[in-house]
Amino acid sequence: MTPPLVQTRGLSLGYDDHAVVDHVDLTIEAGEVIALLGPNGSGKSTLVRGLFGLVPRLGGSIELCGVEQSQFTEHTRIGYVPQRHSLAQAVRSTVAEIVAAGRLPHRPWWRPASADDRQRVAAAIDLVGLGDRAHAEVSTLSGGQQRRTLIARALAGDPDLLVMDEPTAGVDHANQLVLADVIARLAANGTAMLVVTHELDVLAGVVTRIVCLDGGHIDFDGDPEAYAAHLAEADHPHIHGGHHHDHDHAAGGH
Ligand code: ADP
Repeated sequence: MTPPLVQTRGLSLGYDDHAVVDHVDLTIEAGEVIALLGPNGSGKSTLVRGLFGLVPRLGGSIELCGVEQSQFTEHTRIGYVPQRHSLAQAVRSTVAEIVAAGRLPHRPWWRPASADDRQRVAAAIDLVGLGDRAHAEVSTLSGGQQRRTLIARALAGDPDLLVMDEPTAGVDHANQLVLADVIARLAANGTAMLVVTHELDVLAGVVTRIVCLDGGHIDFDGDPEAYAAHLAEADHPHIHGGHHHDHDHAAGGH
């Protein structure tokens, strides 16, 4: 049996011994496309950064492809597209140079790029729709195009799982649709994804599962249908027999 791509058990992460992610159990299997939702400050970025060992772990376990996170060496199997500003130091580089860096872990430092490496770089750039900008300096690109460059860099490594932290944040609607299309094409190729987002609408139809964080805890984990029911219940708890302040008030005869 293939181990899950990600499996956390009782995972707590935080800063200065203060837990921001608290006892989270999260398993990601091949082919899943998961939207990670939650209010600002609920711990979404901390959780995804923690999967890569970028946040102090206060407790629990993280296994990546069946291997304890600190022992995991097949870094390209799990690609990471961080939240923002990560191209700031690379402004003089071209799109192709940035994306080619995503191939580096696949070969010894002294071996030049092979035809296969170059082909994968070109394919990754095409897939994110930047074929005509491959030799442009990234400083000349829009924010959305820079985000797509980072996605292409992760794709060049041919990952089984791509983790993206708010790929559509701060991007205009047209670029959001382009990114959603990229995500749909990756999903069709069988790439599993964990996407932190506030814009679930643009990913509707692609997402297979929704995980909601609130105050560092998972407060919902299920498929889009169950999520719709969960929202309906939150909006109209009286329909399901729960108590709702306004309802009680109205029932009081005003
Ligand atoms: P989200 O991504 O859901 O908006 P974050 O994971 O960014 O939430 O933040 C969760 C909490 O952790 C917030 O209270 C935030 O202030 C705190 N936090 C995030 N990064 C750091 C850091 N580097 N040092 C200390 N506290 C942090």
